[in-house]
Amino acid sequence: MRAASGDEPSPSIADALHGGFPMLEVQCRHCNHTQVVDLTLVIQPRQRPVHTLRRVLFCAKCAKRSEQKRRPDLIGLRPRPSDDPSAPATQKRSAST
Ligand SMILES: [Zn+2]
Repeated sequence: MRAASGDEPSPSIADALHGGFPMLEVQCRHCNHTQVVDLTLVIQPRQRPVHTLRRVLFCAKCAKRSEQKRRPDLIGLRPRPSDDPSAPATQKRSAST
């Protein structure tokens, strides 16, 4: 699997998950805050290309500070960190149906 470099079509969410890159690093241009999004927690169709997530993501720091939703830039896909902190950064619980 090739790394997503921005100027070529990104892999689908499913490809990223199966390829061992379930984390998407994004950076806010306005405050330089970087955030790592766990793709397994993203509520989007798995066949969607990863770059389409840009439309649904926003910088949490800017949102908190100015209540403006800034779109972060996609930096790239990352493997899951080995020390799994059991995802404490989950903003909201998904319904366990
Ligand atoms: Zn920001």
